[in-house]
Amino acid sequence: MKKVGLPIIISAPSGTGKTTTCKRLKQRLPNLKIATSHTTRKIRKGETQGVDYFFISKEEFESKKNNNDFLEWAKVHREYYGTSFEALDKHRQNGFDILLELDIQGVNSLRNMDFEGIYIMILPPSIEEMTKRLKKRGTETEEDIEGRLKTGKEEIKDYKKHDYVITNFEVEETVESILAIVRAEKSRVARYMPTSEDIKELLGS
Ligand code: 5GP
Repeated sequence: MKKVGLPIIISAPSGTGKTTTCKRLKQRLPNLKIATSHTTRKIRKGETQGVDYFFISKEEFESKKNNNDFLEWAKVHREYYGTSFEALDKHRQNGFDILLELDIQGVNSLRNMDFEGIYIMILPPSIEEMTKRLKKRGTETEEDIEGRLKTGKEEIKDYKKHDYVITNFEVEETVESILAIVRAEKSRVARYMPTSEDIKELLGS
């Protein structure tokens, strides 16, 4: 039987430290690949085309959407974001676990299609802290920050849509919690795959 990777869906309000957490997580999990999303938003300083996102125009996004290239897509903070089937399947078919960083609309879409994965929400310790982190980042206008805060507060209310919720007090601690969740989830009996022909024979599967 072919081993297919496990999707790990992480969502978090803007200013929660999700990007840093996901980067550290990737360093700790060699079997993890990130499903790079497409977005119409402008590239930020320090971001790389095709690594952080595929930055595309609204027309290109529309055309991909009409082509049914996206597993899910959403309009977030006035821009479009989407996970392509290609980004998801490229590595998953080779047994790699896949990290999907989504907003709450993306989580809802996947839940509605019974998409199998581990759903984890990362929360800030407080709204005050979230505001501070957003302002410190210095990549958004005052208006964008206000919008992200408003959306973030709504997203927090939806925490029960996830399987796990972690408060990001400190990034290393958060990464450790995610690692513990992933290890436990991968050890579920339902996900067990015989590792050799003799065990497979013994189990009669
Ligand atoms: P940012 O502009 O800060 O990189 O991302 C804004 C929000 O869009 C974040 O909550 C991020 O997780 C979400 N996001 C990024 N890629 C996707 C995607 O492919 N689909 C959905 N639904 N949300 C995404």
